[in-house]
Amino acid sequence: MLARSPAPRGRTPQVPMPGPPHALRTLPWLDGDGYYQDSAHARPQLPRLQGALRSEACVVGAGITGLSAALELARCGVGVTLLEARRIGAGASGRNGGQALADFACGIEALERRLGADAAARAWELSCRGIERLRQRIARHAICCDWDDGVLTLARSAQQARRLYRALQHRRTRYHAGELQWVEGGELRAMVDSTRYCGAMLDPGAGHLHPLNYALGLARAAQAAGVRMHEHSMALRVQREPNAWMVHCTHGVVRCRLLLLATGAVPGAPVPRLQRRVLPVASCMLATEPLPRPVLHGVRAAHDSGPACDYYRLSADGRLLFGTGAFFAGALLHDSARRRAMLRRAMLRCFPQLDDVGITHEWGGWIDASANRAPDFGHLGPGAVYLQGFSGHGLALSGLAGELGARALRAGRGHCADFELFARLRHASLPSQGVLRIPIGVLGALWGRLLHTF
Ligand SMILES: Cc1cc2nc3c(=O)[nH]c(=O)nc-3n(C[C@H](O)[C@H](O)[C@H](O)COP(=O)(O)OP(=O)(O)OC[C@H]3O[C@@H](n4cnc5c(N)ncnc54)[C@H](O)[C@@H]3O)c2cc1C
Repeated sequence: MLARSPAPRGRTPQVPMPGPPHALRTLPWLDGDGYYQDSAHARPQLPRLQGALRSEACVVGAGITGLSAALELARCGVGVTLLEARRIGAGASGRNGGQALADFACGIEALERRLGADAAARAWELSCRGIERLRQRIARHAICCDWDDGVLTLARSAQQARRLYRALQHRRTRYHAGELQWVEGGELRAMVDSTRYCGAMLDPGAGHLHPLNYALGLARAAQAAGVRMHEHSMALRVQREPNAWMVHCTHGVVRCRLLLLATGAVPGAPVPRLQRRVLPVASCMLATEPLPRPVLHGVRAAHDSGPACDYYRLSADGRLLFGTGAFFAGALLHDSARRRAMLRRAMLRCFPQLDDVGITHEWGGWIDASANRAPDFGHLGPGAVYLQGFSGHGLALSGLAGELGARALRAGRGHCADFELFARLRHASLPSQGVLRIPIGVLGALWGRLLHTF
């Protein structure tokens, strides 16, 4: 079904009209008792959108992508309204593993094959710039989010170690990533109190942070820059008028010239054809009580490079925040106690010495996985772009993506080379839940598994 204004005139690009926001009804929120919420700074009070308003630009989704885009537009003097279905950082941005990494979920090698060597080299530079921008924003807006340098990528088997070492050498030689270091043996054991790993890549330029406090800091900066923000204001449909976009929410509507969609994996994106290009994959985390003795030394954040990747870091108050992309589907999605038990087992496989340590929090979130795990950016029509498909690797990239999306909007189609570089990537539409009638959580979990086996 296509959305039309009541009396469409001339050549009006048409954007599909959504049905009811089914993802909102069918996807469990996996909120649990989030550690990040418990340790969050004060939130700005943001009203629901009521009535009709005009705004030069409208950004939908207040995750890092949407907030960064709104901030960039406001910085360039564009009047912006930002709509968020729930609260600032309620999606993946406020509940993730907190590890800000260069590169892409699909790996730079996949982009070399798809885009060619030169474009991939530019993509690599941009992914590194994602981290640079994140650091700059923290400094410029004085965001207190416990940034800490350095992340380890761990290999659990000799085969993984060989693959990881090859990847490191490739990045050093082709992308001059001389800062990447190989760690193994006693040196690795001195950094990670676990016998599980046989090699690791250390990236001292990457880092980790409290993601919700970072998102809230961006929101404060956006508010100070004049962005008008509305929480509990879900965009239900997007409609093209001859010279404007109309974004309809339950209690109001925004008329704008420029539109940017940054709706992540959930809920019910206002343009279903975009929603079909990402599949929500659940990933869950726990927080322990402050550890009697840290399990990481020197570097306080790590993840492994295997299927159903485990990722963990030490929080500023000395807890282990441990997450896994293991198979979360079916009853697990609805049962916090079972998720907590599963996460605890996964943590003890890495750190059996934590058997006596209490678990204080458990929560989860949805990852917007694209079919090829490459980012999915593109144009919706004149003056409208979307950014999605970060596939679990978006903490640093989403900030840069927001900036590129904002630039592409201002420059017009085809005039922001860095945005177009990603927009060139082809993406398959994934089977929709309605068609297959498979619970979307199961499908997402299967998909997550499948992606990791390639
Ligand atoms: C458990 C977990 C761990 C992760 N760990 C890491 C990690 O360690 N490192 C890393 O790089 N990445 C990680 N990620 C991925 C990373 O969090 C995401 O790639 C990134 O946050 C995406 O940001 P976003 O702004 O695009 O989407 P989101 O943060 O999901 O934001 C989208 C926002 O849009 C809102 N929205 C959706 N639809 C509408 C609508 N119709 N109207 C209004 N608002 C709407 C949502 O409520 C949400 O707030 C993890 C993700 C999860 C879930």
